[in-house]
Amino acid sequence: MHDLSDKLFNEIDRRQDDLVLLTQELVRFPTINPPGEAYTPCAEYIGRRLKKTGFTIEYVRGEGTPGDSDRYPRTNVIGRIEGKRPGPTVHFNSHIDVVDAGAGWTFDPFAATIHDGKIYGRGTCDMKGGLSTSIIAVEAYIACNPDFSGAIEISGTVDEESGGFGGVAYLAKKGYFSKPRVDHVIIPEPLNKDRICLGHRGVWWAEIETKGEQAHGSMPFLGDCAVRHMGAVLEELERDLFPKLDLKRTAMPVVPEGARSSTMNINAIHGGQTDDYDGLPSPNVPDSCKMTIDRRFLIEEQLGEVKSEITDILEQLKKSRPKFDYTIRDLMEVLPVMTGRDEPVPASVAAAILQVMGKEPEYVVSPGTYDQKHVSRIGHLNDCIAYGPGILDLAHRPDEYIVIQDMIESAKVMALSIHSLLHPKG
Ligand SMILES: [Zn+2]
Repeated sequence: MHDLSDKLFNEIDRRQDDLVLLTQELVRFPTINPPGEAYTPCAEYIGRRLKKTGFTIEYVRGEGTPGDSDRYPRTNVIGRIEGKRPGPTVHFNSHIDVVDAGAGWTFDPFAATIHDGKIYGRGTCDMKGGLSTSIIAVEAYIACNPDFSGAIEISGTVDEESGGFGGVAYLAKKGYFSKPRVDHVIIPEPLNKDRICLGHRGVWWAEIETKGEQAHGSMPFLGDCAVRHMGAVLEELERDLFPKLDLKRTAMPVVPEGARSSTMNINAIHGGQTDDYDGLPSPNVPDSCKMTIDRRFLIEEQLGEVKSEITDILEQLKKSRPKFDYTIRDLMEVLPVMTGRDEPVPASVAAAILQVMGKEPEYVVSPGTYDQKHVSRIGHLNDCIAYGPGILDLAHRPDEYIVIQDMIESAKVMALSIHSLLHPKG
């Protein structure tokens, strides 16, 4: 193994220019989501590249998924290369979509400028740098050890930034993220080169509507104001729920630290006449008020309890407040996911980080979700982590960058991990 490690490290060092150029070319596809710009040319670029390395390439369009159209097709690419003998399959999955550049840049966000050992641009960190790092790691590994067992896959998938429905979720439904096709999955999201991300907290989004009765605004006593009812809901949330959430702490190593409690955000609230109207408002008692909540929950909590904390408050108000009426509608549910540290992927990557960087990895859990949810929930594959070279705090920011040296170190970690996953000892 030591001979192979040295060979791999030299091979990756030798490919630094290729790694940089590959990252730059990927960043120059402005794969902004929404709307899902330039997905097909970006996917085809990855496909052509992997084909040259000997991969078999498939393109799968997320037909009919949100945003999919002939103008903005949800094009995914999956490459697979078989080893010399049967064995497990390692899969590297990266999303190719990026968020809008936004304001505040000193570099052109799609020029992929090199400055001071870094590549600047939208998606360098999140996560085209991770994608190119995994491609170089795999190519170097195949060059050094062409007799490997099992199979290696690399995918470039769409729409992670908008939930992954046209990307990993679509592919998982078609069996691309399940046994026996795949055994081990690494998602090179930017969690930092020496951290292993084991999973994420859960999500429940819901819309609460309070009902009222319309009347003339000069005689509100004849109607029933839905906004006042929502005010009562807010008061109960402040008094009862938020303090309770702060006290719920998790054993999950969530970063940042503040996200080790349960949290809830109120995404939106609206009642009465819409604010895009710029005349004088009409004097109406609003008969409806809607609020969208974004509740992030811990692995120690059950989704059922999470929901009943809210419905208990609403039911209580129904008893204590005259004419109070409501509906509640689920918008999204994702269960928390956390891979055990002793599973093959985290164990292999931890050993590789120790070998490359001379230190133990930090284990983390993401406050928000990413495509691991679909691998776990739809694919039923639990040996999955996020591991990649980008610096988490730079994701989605102006002047996003990736450090070239971090990609090199991370590629070495990935290459060693491929070997130990494909050739487990004992
Ligand atoms: Zn990402």
